Amino acid sequence: MAAAEAERFDVAVIGGGYAGAQAALTLGRACRRVLVVDGGTPRNARAAHVHNFLGRHDPSPADLLADARAALHQHAVAWEQDSVVRAERIDADGDAAPHWRLGGARGGSWTARAVLLATGLRDELPDVPGVEQLWGRDVVACPHCHGWEVRGRPLAQLGLRGAPARGVERAVLLSRWSRDVVLFTDGDELTAPQRSRLAAAGVAAETGRVRQVVHRGGQLIGIELEDGALHARAAVFVVVKQSPQTDAAALFGCAPAADGVAVAVDGEGRTGVPGVWAAGTAAVPALLAVGAAGHAATVAVHLNNALIELDLAEGRPAVFPVAVEP
Ligand SMILES: Cc1cc2nc3c(=O)[nH]c(=O)nc-3n(C[C@H](O)[C@H](O)[C@H](O)COP(=O)(O)OP(=O)(O)OC[C@H]3O[C@@H](n4cnc5c(N)ncnc54)[C@H](O)[C@@H]3O)c2cc1C
Repeated sequence: MAAAEAERFDVAVIGGGYAGAQAALTLGRACRRVLVVDGGTPRNARAAHVHNFLGRHDPSPADLLADARAALHQHAVAWEQDSVVRAERIDADGDAAPHWRLGGARGGSWTARAVLLATGLRDELPDVPGVEQLWGRDVVACPHCHGWEVRGRPLAQLGLRGAPARGVERAVLLSRWSRDVVLFTDGDELTAPQRSRLAAAGVAAETGRVRQVVHRGGQLIGIELEDGALHARAAVFVVVKQSPQTDAAALFGCAPAADGVAVAVDGEGRTGVPGVWAAGTAAVPALLAVGAAGHAATVAVHLNNALIELDLAEGRPAVFPVAVEP
C-alpha cells in the first residue's frame, strides 16, 4: 500500500457528538478506517443531565460522550480535537469517486474517501436577562427532554418576541406536563383563535413585556414583567432560533434544506455533493440525542454500502484495520 493510501481514512466524521460518535462506532465495526474531528462543543453541554436516552439513567452530557468515545477504542477510529475549517476535493486517476482533504483550525490535515457531517446545531436564546445564565438548568427548550422532572409544577413558556404563534404551540405542548402553565408573550398580542387554543389547553397568557428571568444563587425564582409583577415559576421553557453550529457544510458546497437550518439530504443521508453525507441534528434538527445517534447509525450503514460499491469498482480488497485474534 502506498504511503498516501495508508494515511487515507475511509470516512472522516466531522463532529463527535451523539451522531458523530455513533456513526464512528457503526463504521468502525464495519472494518472501516475512521477519523473523527470534533470541536468539543456538543449542543447540550450546559445541561446537567441527558434525559430520555434509552438504557442510560440521566448521565451528564460529558459522561455519556466519554462512554461513547471509550467504546471506539477497540476499533480503527482516530479522534482529533479540532475544528474543520477547510475542505478540498481531490479527483485522483483510478479512483471511482473524489476524495476529500480536510484542514483543521489547529493545522491538522487529513484525507478521506468520504465525509460524514455530524456538526449539530446552535441555539440562539431569547434576548431576555437571566435566560443565558440559567440555560440548560432551570431554563430549557424541550419538554420531551426536561418536562418529566418538573411535571405538575408551575411552569413558564417564554415566547419569541415577534413570533407569538410559536409560543402558543410550545405552551400547548407544555400543558401536558403541568396544569399550571403561563405563556409569556413578551409584548406580543394574541389573536382570538390563539387565545381559545390556549384556553382549551388550560394555559394562561401574560402579554406584558418581560423585564427579566429572576434568579438567586443559580436558582430560578420566576419571571418579572416590565410592570414589576413577579410570577414565581419552577422552570422556564423558551423558544429558540436554530442555526448550524459551524459552516462545515458550506465548506463542501452542500445545499441547505428548505428550513434554512439543516443540510439537505436524501432519505439515506447523502447530500448533493459526491462523497459527503450528513447525520444527526445537522440533517434533521428536531432529533433528540438518542434519535441523533440512531439516525447516524442508519446513515453510516448506507455510507458503508456505498463504500462497498466503490471498493468493488476500484478493486479494493477487504481490509481488517484491527488485527483479528487467532
Ligand atoms: C440545553 C439542552 C439540553 C438538552 N437536553 C437533552 C436531553 O435531555 N435529552 C435529549 O435527548 N436531547 C437533549 N438535547 C438535544 C441534544 O443536545 C441534541 O439532540 C444532540 O446534541 C444532537 O446531537 P448531534 O450529534 O447531532 O449534535 P451535537 O451534540 O451538537 O454535536 C455536534 C458536534 O459537532 C462538532 N462540530 C461542529 N462543527 C464542527 C467542525 N467544523 N469541525 C469539527 N467539529 C465540529 C461540535 O463541536 C459538536 O461536538 C438538549 C439540547 C439542549 C440545547
